[in-house]
Amino acid sequence: MNQSYKKNIEFIKNSGINYFFADSPKNWFDNSIKNSLQKNEDVNVDKAKKINKIIESIKLHKSILKKSAKNLVVYDGNLNAEVMFIGEAPGKDEDEKGIPFVGKAGQLLNKMLAAIDLKRDDVYITNVVNWRPPDNRTPTDEEILEFLPFLQKQIDVVNPDFIFLLGSVAAKAILSTSLTIGKLRNKWYQYESLKLNKKIHTIASYHPAFLLRSAQYKKASWQDLQMLQKKLNDKK
Ligand code: URA
Repeated sequence: MNQSYKKNIEFIKNSGINYFFADSPKNWFDNSIKNSLQKNEDVNVDKAKKINKIIESIKLHKSILKKSAKNLVVYDGNLNAEVMFIGEAPGKDEDEKGIPFVGKAGQLLNKMLAAIDLKRDDVYITNVVNWRPPDNRTPTDEEILEFLPFLQKQIDVVNPDFIFLLGSVAAKAILSTSLTIGKLRNKWYQYESLKLNKKIHTIASYHPAFLLRSAQYKKASWQDLQMLQKKLNDKK
C-alpha cells in the first residue's frame, strides 16, 4: 500500500463517513421519493435559528485558525435553497467582510451562477473551513475534519436537493476522496446523511479561483454547471 493511499484511507476512516459514493447515479426524482420543499415562514425561522446555533458553536470551537483570522465566515444566500455551493475557506476579502466568496473568485462565482439563471440569493454558499487559513494556505486534513461536523450540520438544516462542490478541498470533505477534480467532475454522486431521509445529488467541479488562473478549464466547468441546470429544469 503506498503512502498517499494509506493517508487517504486514514482520512476516510477519521471522517466518520461510512459510505463511499456510488458508481452510477440513481433517479431520486421519481414520484415515490420526491421530497417537497416546505417554504413557509415557520420553516424559515426554524432554519435561521438552527443555523445561528451552528454559528455559535463554530465561534465557541477552539481552532488555531481563529487566532490569525479577523472574521468568522459561514454562509451567504438562501436558507431554503435547492442548491448548496461549497468552497474551500475564506480568503482575504472574505475575512475582511465575514461573507464567503466576495473577492475575485466570488465575482466569478456570481457570473457562473448567472450563466445558469441563478442569483446568490437563490443558493446557499458556504465553505469547508470557516476561518481564513494564514496566507490563504490550503486547509490541512485535520482542519477539514475539524470543521466537517459544522458543514454536515448546515447541510442537514438547509436540506438542499443539490450540492455543487467547488474544488478538491470541498470534494475531499464531502465525498471522502483525494481524487482530483479532473477525475471527479462530470458525474453525479449521492451525499447521504443520517438526519435526512433522502440522498442529495452532488457534483464536484473546479474552484473559481483555479479557473481565474487556468482559463482553459472554464469549458469543463461550464459543462458541469449545465448538468446542474438540467437537473434543476427537470424538477420544474
Ligand atoms: N475561496 C473559497 O474557497 N471560499 C471563499 O469564500 C473565497 C475564496
